[in-house]
Amino acid sequence: MTASLDLEAVKREWQTSLFEREFDGDDLLDVVQRAEKTVPALIAEVERLTAKLKDQTERIAQLHRERGEAVAEFGRLRAEIERAWQPVKEVASAAPGFNPPCDFCGRPRLQVPKLIRARAGGPYICSHCVELCADILREEAGR
Ligand SMILES: [Zn+2]
Repeated sequence: MTASLDLEAVKREWQTSLFEREFDGDDLLDVVQRAEKTVPALIAEVERLTAKLKDQTERIAQLHRERGEAVAEFGRLRAEIERAWQPVKEVASAAPGFNPPCDFCGRPRLQVPKLIRARAGGPYICSHCVELCADILREEAGR
């Protein structure tokens, strides 16, 4: 196996062999013998890296498919929850005591993020109006 092949060492060895020596016949033979040893290892390393890249590419494609499926499933579940919730909303909006409006802006409970009740039976204020009041108070405090 070529997993421990030191590519930097091979590179250094080849640079020394090819560029820093005067060549004679023995040197040339030496270079050829080194090539016979290192080139198959380099080819094996390239093949190993190519196979690894192929595996990773397939894994990424698989993750993209799974993500697409998860997004579709999420959308389907959200639509299902919305459908299941719809009759509850309708019943609730038809019952005035269950869906009281904000006493400031008139929006019903089901149309605001939060409706706060002062005491039993009201009055009520919604989170939009609370934020508006907070803005007014901040603005006045800043003068
Ligand atoms: Zn309001």
